[in-house]
Amino acid sequence: MKKILAILLALVLVLSFAACASTAETTNEDSNAQTNETADTTETGDTDASAEDTDAAAEDADAATEETTDAAFTTVEEGKLHMSTNAAFPPYEMVADGEGFQGTGYEGIDVEIAYAIAQKLGLELVVDDMDFTAALEAAQSGKSDMVMAGVTVNEDRLAVMDFSDSYATGVQVVIVTEDSPIATLDDIEGKLIGTQKGTTGFTYASDTPENGGYGEDAVIGFDNGLSAVQALKNGQVDCVIIDNAPAQSFVAENPGLKILDTEWVTEDYAIGVAKGNTALLDAINGALAELIADGTVQGIIDTYITAE
Ligand code: GLN
Repeated sequence: MKKILAILLALVLVLSFAACASTAETTNEDSNAQTNETADTTETGDTDASAEDTDAAAEDADAATEETTDAAFTTVEEGKLHMSTNAAFPPYEMVADGEGFQGTGYEGIDVEIAYAIAQKLGLELVVDDMDFTAALEAAQSGKSDMVMAGVTVNEDRLAVMDFSDSYATGVQVVIVTEDSPIATLDDIEGKLIGTQKGTTGFTYASDTPENGGYGEDAVIGFDNGLSAVQALKNGQVDCVIIDNAPAQSFVAENPGLKILDTEWVTEDYAIGVAKGNTALLDAINGALAELIADGTVQGIIDTYITAE
């Protein structure tokens, strides 16, 4: 009887070990499913061939990779570059009426820059539209390859994700009704502020007065900027604090609103990727640098934002 038990126990152990091993294998395979090579990998051309052979060869390959750095990156889906965003942030990302930019279904500065980056990396751009916070989290957790949503680089976000070089700037501004008693930032005290949830505008506004904010109770977070602007029109809030580019766009489309002259905080927009995904980040930065140098990025910004 004891013997049978021992055999059964051994069997269970062997089986569970096998199960673990196969799970590990699957995950590993998944994450290595597709390996894209950037243009500058030509020097390591023989790396792949030797890596397939023996362990020793694999070690050689590792050494070679170390020398040349950023040789390979992987994406969530083979041949595609998934960009998570909140497509309610004109003119950076909007749902298109028709096919959208290059058939993506979306348009805007971020969509066009992302498309140009994807082209350079030999990938097809896929835009995944969701709430702003979800868009950040998707990139953070590696569910999307990158988040582009007029995302401001700040310390809190740098703690949980990595950012590309900056490609644009944004300024936090205040939208009020044309007949509003609010004329300066000081006048906001004691008033109700509308913002978009999870944004830097929300964070600054709800900070303590000592830190330049108006306190949590003064701020209502809406699902997106347009809902906040609608609440302003309906008299549910007294002002909206939001990035200048969407502010211009909302004011242009909604008569009776204006933007205060006072500019609040200037911020850098960048592309967010999962923390530690340096291979992809390097590839994105490489493509972005070329697109900035040859004027593509500025050209895209200029088609959407006309200088006053
Ligand atoms: N720039 C702001 C932020 O990063 C707002 C971005 C947005 O609403 N899409 O928080």
